Amino acid sequence: MRNSSRNGTHFVILRDDDTNALTPRACLERLYRPFLERNLPVNLAVIPEVRRATTDPRGRREAFVPESSGEPTVPLVHSPELVKYLKANPGYHLVQHGCHHDCFEFALSDRKEIERRFARGAERFVEAGFVPPKVFVAPHDRFSPESLRVAAERFSVVSSGWFELRRLPPEWWPRYAVKKALQQPHWRVGETVLLSHPGCILSCYRPYADMLAKLQAAVLGQRTTVLVTHWWEYFHEGVENEMFLRVLHDLAEWLAERRDVKVVPFSALAEEKIPLN
Ligand SMILES: [Zn+2]
Repeated sequence: MRNSSRNGTHFVILRDDDTNALTPRACLERLYRPFLERNLPVNLAVIPEVRRATTDPRGRREAFVPESSGEPTVPLVHSPELVKYLKANPGYHLVQHGCHHDCFEFALSDRKEIERRFARGAERFVEAGFVPPKVFVAPHDRFSPESLRVAAERFSVVSSGWFELRRLPPEWWPRYAVKKALQQPHWRVGETVLLSHPGCILSCYRPYADMLAKLQAAVLGQRTTVLVTHWWEYFHEGVENEMFLRVLHDLAEWLAERRDVKVVPFSALAEEKIPLN
């Protein structure tokens, strides 16, 4: 770790959200083969038991669930093809993304219900033959103080958008003040690493022309950067978004070429193999 700090290596953690039992594996393969081929790890924030009717904060059907009928929730194990594909490609690192991905699922304050959802999510990974993830991503990056407290008890790493005082457990406030004063994007409470990200630069809702330059600037502007994207944004109603896909694949090429940039899984942080800031 010390050598990497001294020689100015930049670390990148690529996070793709919302893979679930209804995700076609061909979509992941199309997006990430260039990463896997180059040994660039891809962290998939996987929904363990997705709710078919889940909605976004504006009440619209989430684009990562197709119109379909059946049981209200679908556990990972119901997609043996996807499970097999994920297991066959060790370049994918699975992260727990909520439980059902209900809207603002972890903005609730009832400790029992929070614990129930964490545990049920973990069980769904085990049921599909995976180890329960040590990394957590909340749907819509939204936590209550209580859910963040419980997440820190269960997970080694919590990846979120940003942290604000009113959503933190009060006992964390002094540590948070230090993080703010030092202007550090990432911090630690007890044994748990808390990561911020610079917004979803890799998004179909942003202009493509300067997207790669913005990604490069974000990576080279700090020690360790989490880059977040969403697989379903590359496929609108089954049609591939070529320009957006090109940016993603150009990013893979750039990341592989740069000798001062190393792409790592979240577990590298949990194992303290790379510096935080
Ligand atoms: Zn999500």
